[in-house]
Formats: sequence, C-alpha cells, structure tokens
Amino acid sequence: MTQHSRITASVDYEKNGKQVGYLSAPHSHNLSGWGAARFPIAVIRNGSGPTMLLTGGNHGDEYEGPIALTKLIQALDPARIQGRVIVMPFLNAPAVAAGTRVSPIDGVNMNRTFPGDPLGTVTRMVAHYVHSRLLPLADAVADIHSGGKSMFFSPFAAVHELDDKALMEKSRRAMLAFDPPIGLLVRELDVAGTLDTEVEKAGKVLVTTELGGGGTTSTATIGLAERGVRNLLRHFGVLDGAPETRASLGLKPTRLMVAKEDAYVATDHSGLLEMLVDLDAPVSAGQPIARVYDLEHPGAAPALYHARSDGFLIGRSHGALVAAGDFLAMIARDA
Ligand SMILES: [Zn+2]
Repeated sequence: MTQHSRITASVDYEKNGKQVGYLSAPHSHNLSGWGAARFPIAVIRNGSGPTMLLTGGNHGDEYEGPIALTKLIQALDPARIQGRVIVMPFLNAPAVAAGTRVSPIDGVNMNRTFPGDPLGTVTRMVAHYVHSRLLPLADAVADIHSGGKSMFFSPFAAVHELDDKALMEKSRRAMLAFDPPIGLLVRELDVAGTLDTEVEKAGKVLVTTELGGGGTTSTATIGLAERGVRNLLRHFGVLDGAPETRASLGLKPTRLMVAKEDAYVATDHSGLLEMLVDLDAPVSAGQPIARVYDLEHPGAAPALYHARSDGFLIGRSHGALVAAGDFLAMIARDA
C-alpha cells in the first residue's frame, strides 16, 4: 500500500516561471504544538524539456551546495531556460540552520534514510517526499556535497560504479560536463539509504561531489559548484550554450581517477591525529600516512597508519582528534 506524504508544497511543479517556496513537514513540538518544519524549494520552468533536480545541504555542514544553489535560484531567468529546474538548496534545512551534519530535530542523517518514510520523523518524511514526488519528475539529479566539519577533500565530482553500464556512461559524461578538477569513479564505503542509490535504482543520472570541507568554503570551491551546476544544465539542454570548460579558463583538464574498496583508511585508535602527507600528495601502498597519539599515554609510541593502495591523497579527516572507527584518509589512483 502506498502511503501518502504528510508534506505539503507551496510550489506548483507544472507552472511556468520562477517560484520560490517551501515544503512543509508537520512538526509538533513543545514550542509549537501545531507547527511545521519548512524546507525551501524553488521551481524554475519554461515549457517542456528536461527536468534537473539540484540539491545542496543534504548534510547541514557542507556549504558549497547551499551557497551556489541559492545564487542559482536568484540568477536563473525562466525565459532563458528550456524545461524545468527544481532546486532544494538546503535539503536538510534544520541541519543547515544548526550547522550540523544530521538533523537536530530527529538526529537523522538525510543521506542514510532514503527512500524515507511518510510516517517517519521529519527527515524521513522529507526523504520520502523527495523520493516519491520529486525523483519521478527528474531526468537527472546533482547532489552537491563537501567534507563537512569532519572531513576535507581535494575537490572532485563523482559517479558510482554501476552494473548498468549504459547508465554509468551517461553519468560519466554528465560528471565530465560538471568539469571538476578530479572526476572520480568511486565505490562508496556505505551506499545504503543514500539519495544517490535511489536515483541510480530509478535508472537516472546522478552526479555528486565532494568540494572541500572543514565546515567552510573557498572562492575556488564555490566557483566550482556554480560553474559545475550551470555546465550540467547546459549538458542536459536546460540552459543554452556549450559547457564552460576548464581549458577555456586556462585550467588543467579534469583528472580521471578511481577509488575502490582499498581507497579508504580508518583508525582503530582514539587520540591525536598527525597526518604525514597532505592532500593531493602521491602515496604508495604501505607508505605511512598518519600517526595517532594516545592522549593518556604520551610516552607510548603512536599507532601508525599506512596507505592501502598506490595513488594520491584526495580526502582526509579534518579534525585532529579522532576516535576508533573514524575515517582517516581516502586515496584515489589515476584511471
Ligand atoms: Zn555530504
């Protein structure tokens, strides 16, 4: 039995022009008995054509998506597009407002709860609405992530290794249109419950990114997000003109890389992290890349962590304090 969503939208997906409104999820709590949590959404439409769903703030402490997509909402002229752009710049809006990865309302990580639950908590309700109402409208989805407060990445756009090779190729071409410094073919650590997986299951193109991190942004990473998203709109024919290439800006072409299961290094120890290599540095399998010092035993030798594969360090823990089980590093190799 299909459960209906309890969420209402203030926007009409079939209407031409630009609408900026919100999804409203019932949220009854101590300070607001009949209240609702609001999730901003914009619909920019001009006639028939492809639909792009653009999301940022899936995790609330990653800012390139929210900033670039807010600017896009303000800048896009409906008369100059063909088709439809649906934008949720702060997909997990309460988390964005709190500056936290997961929602302060229910403690739920939006990107581990898809396809959501219409009768679940607020985050689960929104995931269900996105999955059941917005995803069917979309031809392609771009979900803009960065490292958040706990991680830092050398900026990349990524597509997943998929069994459906035709979809993988379509996704790869969209990723290249985004025109990132690094284009990564990735096998993720944990894909259950992600928006990515649901988009791909639906046979649609998903481009995701990791554009920096540390709970902040740079002019470079915001520029990447803005240019990348516009390039995707051009790639799918929603905006006119050819994608703006790195070459035309005098930048090095996209570096194609792969990350398999052996790309990830996690810590078994808690303590103080000393990275031994910096982002973008080359590493070889077995090379020491980090030390973790025991805070209670400064006389004890630190635990040493090694690269599991050859490649380049493209991701690392941002925090210098780590706990057993934490992500330490990500190493990708040239494709
Ligand atoms: Zn994220």
